Amino acid sequence: CGIIGYTGTDGAVGDVLLTGLSGLEYRGYDSAGVAVSDSSLSIHKRQGEVSELEEALPANGIDGVAGIGHTRWSTHGPPTDTNAHPHTDCTGDVAVVHNGIIENYQQLRSDLETGGHEFISDTDTEVIPHLIETALETGASREEAFREAVHQLEGSYAVAAVFPGSETVYAARNESPLVLGIGDNGHYLASDVPAFIEYTDRVVYLEDGQFARINPSGIVVTDEQGAVVETAVERIEWDP
Ligand code: GLU
Repeated sequence: CGIIGYTGTDGAVGDVLLTGLSGLEYRGYDSAGVAVSDSSLSIHKRQGEVSELEEALPANGIDGVAGIGHTRWSTHGPPTDTNAHPHTDCTGDVAVVHNGIIENYQQLRSDLETGGHEFISDTDTEVIPHLIETALETGASREEAFREAVHQLEGSYAVAAVFPGSETVYAARNESPLVLGIGDNGHYLASDVPAFIEYTDRVVYLEDGQFARINPSGIVVTDEQGAVVETAVERIEWDP
């Protein structure tokens, strides 16, 4: 029921993601998870509280160049470790978090299964990494693959994805909230401002149908066709 994404050097990736998930706990959830990109992706997820996820992390923490996190409020599939987000494809080449409901996931899933994809969760969300994988296999760039996958979704979503060895976090929204945060040395995305208010109060609200790409040096927002959208940075007043 909440997502967080981060890239930069305002803080260690693991710390920023866990702070973000704690800041989203008020929205309610039954599971939590994170994916961090380094030379490969590491994914950790648990049914239960953010504190339980924290306990399940490696003793030396999780480090990397970018990451995403999720608190899940189950709509498709019971709250289990396997159904918790992030979800990945068959090759482990992408990790995805999603809030909302993919209305056409059954059709997408059966098409993907016919094409040889194996699913391990009961979620609607898991179609997204497999759609990205399919597009990557046809030679699409990571950004094109993300866009192609999202264009096939019907329903509500705030979705974010990371890839191994990359500082970039990709995101899109339709009928689920998503806000970008502009820090001094990092960029954020989240379902709501409390996820990153500790780090920045400068925000850009995404609109339905928009895509975003964040990396340590900047944010780029594009429309459904891929044209760059001028964004207005707002400074929000926050009294935690
Ligand atoms: N529909 C997705 C699931 O059941 C996402 C739920 C959410 O918004 O947390 O996993």
